[in-house]
This record gives sequence, C-alpha cells and structure tokens, in this order.
Amino acid sequence: MINALTVDVEDWYHTNGLNIAKKDWRDLQSTVYPNTMKILDLFDELGVKATFFILGDVAKRFPRLVREIVTRGHEIGSHGMNHQLVSGQSIEEFKKDFKQSIAILEKIAKQKIKFYRAPSWSISEDRLEILSYLEKNGIICDSSLQPFKTPLSGINGIPTRPFKPIITGQKLDLVEFPPTIMRLHKHFSVPFAGGFYLRLFPWKVISKLLRIINKTRPGMVYIHPWELDSSIPRFKTSWLIQIIQYHRLHSTERTLRNLIHEFEFAPLGQVIKNQQNLHEAI
Ligand SMILES: [Zn+2]
Repeated sequence: MINALTVDVEDWYHTNGLNIAKKDWRDLQSTVYPNTMKILDLFDELGVKATFFILGDVAKRFPRLVREIVTRGHEIGSHGMNHQLVSGQSIEEFKKDFKQSIAILEKIAKQKIKFYRAPSWSISEDRLEILSYLEKNGIICDSSLQPFKTPLSGINGIPTRPFKPIITGQKLDLVEFPPTIMRLHKHFSVPFAGGFYLRLFPWKVISKLLRIINKTRPGMVYIHPWELDSSIPRFKTSWLIQIIQYHRLHSTERTLRNLIHEFEFAPLGQVIKNQQNLHEAI
C-alpha cells in the first residue's frame, strides 16, 4: 500500500490558531525557507517524493523555494493565498484567493497546478460547491475536507478514505483525499497522521494505526516546515494553542524518518491513480 506524503509550505506565523494579522507578518522572523530546505534534503536522503502545498504568500516572497521544490522532482499544489479560512470567506472571496495563488505558482513553476488544500481543512459543509469550482479550474485532487469536527473546521460523518464527491447529484471526477484518521464511532475519531498529532502520539501508536489503515486504504501524512524546528519564535497565546503549536517539535524529524523507513510513500498524484470508481455522496 502506498501512502501520500504531503507538506504545507507556510511560515509559523501563518497558522490560523495563532491568528496573527497579515499586516504584522513582515515584522516577524520567517523560517520557512531554511526549514523547507531541511525537508527537501531529508526527502533526498531518504529517496522519497511528496506533494508540497505552497502558500501564495510564501511563493511570492521566496520564488526560488518553489523552483527548488520543482527541481528536486516533487509535486506542487496550492494552499491558498494568505491562509484565510475558506469557511470565513464568501464564494467570491474564495475564488479570488484561489486564482491569485494559482497564478503565482503557475508563473514561477511553469506548470499547471492540479492539487489544492484549503488552509486548516476549512472547506465547510456550506461551501461544498467549491469542489465543483476546483474541478472546473483544473484541480484533479483536493485535500480540504476534515472528516471530524474541531472548533476551526471539519465535517462529521464524511468518508475517511479517498473518494470522488457527489455534490447535489453531480458526480465529480476530482478525488477528495481527507487527512487520515481512525474512526471509532460516528462522533469519535482519532487523527494521528499529521501535524500536531504526529507530535502527540508515541511512534508505536502511529505505526500501529497506520498499519491497520493500510489493510484497506492508503493513508496521508502531512507536516509543516516549522514543525521540524524547535527554535521557532514562541508567540504568547492561549495554553491550548501553545500546546498545538509547540508540543515536542524536536520529535517531528524522528517520526518522519520512522514513517518513511517503515511505510511506502509517494506524491498524491501517484497515490490517486489507483483510486478509481469511488463515488460517494456527501
Ligand atoms: Zn496551512
């Protein structure tokens, strides 16, 4: 079973949890360039390719980073322009944000962008028509629907495996690839395969759960460049966000190495090739 390996290329201050105003971003220390380079070197060393969802704000500031990701043979996708929650945007605002991010990436990378991930999995239940829009605009795989609810985003009860959505009776060809979770009950799921959850659970739990998932379906791992850097600037915020943001940052690289050693990974484009005839209504 081949799992998808994905990276959200954004700076530590872009995260929605910290909620730092865009006007303040340039006063803060950026770490996205060196930390993404660290990931690229790690992937080269371990001989693995991934999908990098790049934030428009990062691409605009560091176009050579986009070129470096492409040159090293990875797949690229859009992570939106300014890390704004899609659920908080009007459809028109979303379209503008999406188009701007695609235009920047396509200009720098000189290739069509076919992958999209909304910031913080924020395509909400009342914004599902966006999936049809993404398909019409060349996206073949979207990774924006979280199959459980958190205060920020998520939709309870949607499929946990990759699927082709049926939106108001219309079958889409676009594949939706949700973040991997173990669903124990309709209203109780255990996310374990990305971001904070990779730092929360011991390696034995992560590997055991992914093995169970891999008996029937591919999983998807996601990380952020700042998660491999325990020296990122600390920002004063609520205790919960502090934990989500800073808990065991020193462990991310080790967990990532373990994952790549023990499981098979590829970019999303390669993983979804085996995912056919998967229509499901949501
Ligand atoms: Zn993000």
